[in-house]
Amino acid sequence: MPIDSRRPRALSLAQSTSGSLHLGNYLGALRQWVPMQEEYEAFYGIADLHALTLEQEPAARREQTLVGAAQLLAAGVDPRRSVVFLQSQVPEHTQLTWVLNCLTGFGQASRMTQFKDKASRAGADAANVGLFTYPILMAADILIYQADKVPVGEDQRQHLELTRDLAVRFNARYGPTFTVPEPHIITAVGRIQDLADPTAKMSKSAVSPAGLINLLDEPAANVKKIKSAVTDSERTIVFDEESKPGVSNLLTILSALSGSSVGALVDDFAGRGYGDLKAAVAESVSAFAVPFRERTLELLGERTELEAVLADGAERARAVAAETVADVYAKVGLILPR
Ligand code: AMP
Repeated sequence: MPIDSRRPRALSLAQSTSGSLHLGNYLGALRQWVPMQEEYEAFYGIADLHALTLEQEPAARREQTLVGAAQLLAAGVDPRRSVVFLQSQVPEHTQLTWVLNCLTGFGQASRMTQFKDKASRAGADAANVGLFTYPILMAADILIYQADKVPVGEDQRQHLELTRDLAVRFNARYGPTFTVPEPHIITAVGRIQDLADPTAKMSKSAVSPAGLINLLDEPAANVKKIKSAVTDSERTIVFDEESKPGVSNLLTILSALSGSSVGALVDDFAGRGYGDLKAAVAESVSAFAVPFRERTLELLGERTELEAVLADGAERARAVAAETVADVYAKVGLILPR
């Protein structure tokens, strides 16, 4: 399908390291990708190069990359409308990363809170340099497609700021080159919390899996986790993230999946207990996750087709990415081959 240059562009990638996407990935990011296909020329994919920052057995890595891609399609990303690709199949991303590495101050990169968190958890020696330059590869992912909008969760806001800084800096130094992208973060769902520790965000790297809803897990296991979600010692169902983070998180999830506003849910649940709220959340999560899981497994059963979709996506992505890299290389004074 020809690239339609009249529409604004959207780009977003998800990592593939845990195999299954979790409910936070879905509500915070992936769910926004689907309607954006209408209005935007969208580039969506799996950040398998970013995933290399974590050690993983190669066969498992290959499998999880495909599981990741199948989930994008199962969620409703349509490869006839959007470019769906694997980051590693578009080598221009790493070419642009090097140029951006050389434009990023060490101090600025050192201030990235996600790196500081991950490095402090891994220990200074275990954290690799890839983890340090992770946000710069992410900046390249975005800038290479001249993306206008980047649908992500709240945890990516600082990386988006860095991306914008780099675009502005490059444009100021070498002339207009990059579109300065805007984050597309839906505040209400931008940070889904861990069910067992509702003061922390839901994350695949959580200390315990008790509060993590992986979309591909056995539905019964997820129902059990939701029913054991940590709440508080009161009895009233009200939304207050400060004093009732657990209940507020459950209301956020239910609101996002049911389409009812948090206010309407609070009215509905007046006089009812936390058990009722958890049962409703469990039901709405299952209503989404059960068919999502079936569809993902179905797509994984048609691997050749899935790999063909990704190869086609990579080709379409490269057509755009190569243009940006040629422009950037020429502007910084590299000699392009004749
Ligand atoms: P990752 O695979 O970690 O890069 O995450 C994929 C997308 O999910 C990114 O846009 C993240 O910002 C988003 N995300 C991750 N965790 C959460 C969460 N707990 N709540 C909302 N969005 C999230």
